[in-house]
Amino acid sequence: MLDQAHPTRIPAGEVHSEYRIYKPCGHQHAPTDAGVQEVDDIGLVCADGYEYSICWTCCASGGAGQTEECVDGHADCWPCRPLRSLAHRISVTHQRAALAMTSGDTPLWAARANEAAELYRELVRHLPTPATEETDHG
Ligand SMILES: [Zn+2]
Ligand SMILES: [Zn+2]
Ligand SMILES: [Zn+2]
Repeated sequence: MLDQAHPTRIPAGEVHSEYRIYKPCGHQHAPTDAGVQEVDDIGLVCADGYEYSICWTCCASGGAGQTEECVDGHADCWPCRPLRSLAHRISVTHQRAALAMTSGDTPLWAARANEAAELYRELVRHLPTPATEETDHG
């Protein structure tokens, strides 16, 4: 059944998260160095090796590897299209909530505000949890 109010929901199990692409940074690092991480095929790199970000799901197929199209052109890869359209829907829903509020339509205002809150929860699902002591994320 198609829900007209939410035509383009991101499937529940799908997480669009940032995936950082690195190149060798050219330093000799020890695993204990601050801000250094182990990258497949490269080894230990620091922030100097960071190149750009892509989407873990859209561009790396959930870790299967970066697609060829993505290697060729990744300007729009992060935030990816589904997340950008989600952010757009949040802003549109907010505007509608504000409009309903100023026109005194309380039930509509409440409905729009709830809808926006739900979209926010959806967006937050794809954001990284604030790093506390992150060492390895798989
Ligand atoms: Zn380095
Ligand atoms: Zn994505
Ligand atoms: Zn990409």
